Amino acid sequence: MKTAFVTYMGNNRYLYGVLALYQSLKEHKNERQLVVLVGPAVTSQVIGYLKEKPVILKMVDEIGNPNREVENDTRGVKFMYSKIRVFELFEYDKIVYLDADMVVCENVEDLFDKPHMSAVIAGKLLRWDWRDFNSGLMVIEPEPSTFANMLATITVLPSCDGTDQGFLNSFYPHWKREESLHLEHRFNLPASWLEHYCKSYDFEFEYREEGLHAKNVSVIHYIGPNKPWDHDAAELGKLKTMDRYQQSVALWWDYFHRSV
Ligand code: UDP
Ligand code: MN
Repeated sequence: MKTAFVTYMGNNRYLYGVLALYQSLKEHKNERQLVVLVGPAVTSQVIGYLKEKPVILKMVDEIGNPNREVENDTRGVKFMYSKIRVFELFEYDKIVYLDADMVVCENVEDLFDKPHMSAVIAGKLLRWDWRDFNSGLMVIEPEPSTFANMLATITVLPSCDGTDQGFLNSFYPHWKREESLHLEHRFNLPASWLEHYCKSYDFEFEYREEGLHAKNVSVIHYIGPNKPWDHDAAELGKLKTMDRYQQSVALWWDYFHRSV
């Protein structure tokens, strides 16, 4: 079976994220290769940086976002629909897609045992009414007919949030009821909610001078407009005074620094 981790970079801004993600996968002995889908807005200089890493670069054409959210776009929603090209990687039997704003805290290769469209309702432990999957981490078995159907419905199906995630949830309307596809929360944990998750549920996360201690935290997702690379590492202060979100940002920076 041909398998790989996959991430996507629509523009130069996410280079930092790809490097930290790559480093985190490597440090936790995730042996499969990382494929990086690279959109047309990425410059040749940035592609040059990526070529220094043993990752597989795959140039992809843009899939335009048809929603009105692209007007006054502050978070790059313009670039997000092209992520759907992960469903076009027919040369692979199974892939694990991770957003470029994620890092792993341990080996996650058991995800390759999960079925097509396994994903997490990220954040559900705080928002009980959420039922959609988060498209930041998905287990995918690429199929030509599925991808053709996606392309054919891209301008037809609604996207509740104006991103690929809303579209994909419209495309898979029965996902909500297919509980065998609902992955454990540990595979897609919003960084800003680590504090709450650890205080209220069976999660543990500490990143201190002694290193990383995590329980039920396998993949951290820095969801939202502010990414770890927007925080100045020097301004974070001392590890022992940080809350869990800040600790997760410090962890991200340490992965990043070790990658460059
Ligand atoms: N992305 C990108 N450039 C952008 C915005 C998004 O390359 O300007 C890609 C990147 O892989 C990112 C994914 O699309 O991880 C989804 O966007 P993001 O993670 O920012 O959304 P969030 O998880 O915050 O909802
Ligand atoms: Mn993301």
